[in-house]
Amino acid sequence: MTTLKVGDFVWAKMTGYPYWPGKIVEEDKDVKKPKGKSEMHYVRFYGTGDHAWTKVELIKPYEENKETFSVANKRPNFIDAVKEIEHASERRGKGIPDTSSEEEESEDENGSDDEPLSKHAKITSKKAEKTTKSTPKRRKQPKKQNYPSREQLTLHHHDLSHYLLTRSLENNTPQNAAHKPSSYNRFSSDTPDIKLPSSRRSPDTTADADSTTQYIPREVMATDKKIGFIGLGIMGSSMARNLVETGHDVTVWNRTQDKCTSVIKAGAKQGSSPADVVQQCDIIFSCVADPNAVRDIVIGNYGVLQGMSSGKGFVDMSTIDVDTVKEIAEAICMRGGRYLEAPVNGSKKEAEHGQLVILAAGDRSLYMDCYSSFEAMGKKTFFLGELGNGAKNKMIMSMMMGSFMASISESLSLAEKAGLDQYTLLEILNMGALSCPLVKSKGAAVLEGHFPANFPLRHMQKDLRLGLQIGEELEQPLHIAGASNELYKRSKAMGYGDRDMACVYRAVNA
Ligand code: NAP
Repeated sequence: MTTLKVGDFVWAKMTGYPYWPGKIVEEDKDVKKPKGKSEMHYVRFYGTGDHAWTKVELIKPYEENKETFSVANKRPNFIDAVKEIEHASERRGKGIPDTSSEEEESEDENGSDDEPLSKHAKITSKKAEKTTKSTPKRRKQPKKQNYPSREQLTLHHHDLSHYLLTRSLENNTPQNAAHKPSSYNRFSSDTPDIKLPSSRRSPDTTADADSTTQYIPREVMATDKKIGFIGLGIMGSSMARNLVETGHDVTVWNRTQDKCTSVIKAGAKQGSSPADVVQQCDIIFSCVADPNAVRDIVIGNYGVLQGMSSGKGFVDMSTIDVDTVKEIAEAICMRGGRYLEAPVNGSKKEAEHGQLVILAAGDRSLYMDCYSSFEAMGKKTFFLGELGNGAKNKMIMSMMMGSFMASISESLSLAEKAGLDQYTLLEILNMGALSCPLVKSKGAAVLEGHFPANFPLRHMQKDLRLGLQIGEELEQPLHIAGASNELYKRSKAMGYGDRDMACVYRAVNA
């Protein structure tokens, strides 16, 4: 067996991932070596900038194994990693020291996201520290833009997802990609169903994932009612901004005040508490994490109830259970207010583009008063009748999506263990009946090992839990959703709650 030493170029493998180009480097004293008898080297991986303790039996000399490993993988980030090690090797051949392993900047702005080799080992993201050392600096590469600006109407965020998406966009490229939404223009493929109770209409197929919807500008005539918005997380921040940008008079509040900044810059006013927002406004929307969060903003100190008075409307757009919906509705009505539940289908990008599907139920007069607000936030609004129907519809759809994602994860994991190329498998999948935005965007996330939260995993687990509760009450067996829920629980316990729901793959592939 070849003896390897610091400085050697190698192929190194972490469980669940293919052999990846790397270099044996000096160990980082801050990163504890995992316990066990196995001999290990500290490896720095090209392309990702990650470091990991790796067992010697999973490390192979680079040159001797190049032919075997470099052709076994077609992922763009793998190809980049191979280019990088080749470049380093060439420089070494010319006597130029290889500094790339110490100085490369991460693609991920936050440095917090995963790369394919970030499991089962303590991994450091020391790039920020290392760039302060006095070693020669490589010129920084411009950072890749992970997400499109609001003006960009194509939905690619990475090379791979772009590749997968372009296949379906080929015949559906937005005509006006350069079009910049003006204050009163929204993008919609349809006019909202505002007149009819529409549970009998054909369901909208938009998944909580990047969609390939074509955006067509539409006018929004903003109501002159004063609008409040409570909860500026991933969804709420874009929803509130769309309200402002379509000419609504908006006052916002968020528990963590910093998150108000961008919406205030866009033209919203700042409320000092939920009660203050309610006092200043006629219709108040909220979009917060879960049932407890809704209770906190409504019943808590300086909560919605304290500002509520006759005629005002409260519209909760969070995904919560039917009991909480009814409890909050009752409390609001006791104060003379009106209540509407309006959970949404669609994820971060749909929220950004005003393309959500809104599932409203409850007070119909309030629903009618929300017309322009819903137009600003969504492409389609359903009025589903009695209170609780919004929550039930949302939960059932979310449950289906969570189970499907768990199944995609299992399949991709099995493919990898069976020695198949996951990339090719996904490409084939996307040419068949299962091709859909969920498979494309989340499949790409899995293959890239990149899980920025569009739909945080903890919210998906919450939705599954609440969906299972409905099944429990109605004695409906939900074997698949139940098993999926366990996987999401496990992923949460592994620390992936704040990553995207696609990170359930990590629990499956552990
Ligand atoms: P998020 O980014 O995690 O934001 C959660 C929001 O809730 C933040 O504004 C947070 O305030 C607030 N919050 C949490 N606990 C609170 C408490 N105890 N008191 C007051 N405020 C509290 O979540 P999100 O993705 O925007 O999702 C919001 C809701 O929409 C959830 O019910 C989710 O299930 C649903 N939804 C999400 C998606 C999606 O793709 N993301 C899609 C459909 C539906 P801080 O900023 O202070 O933490």
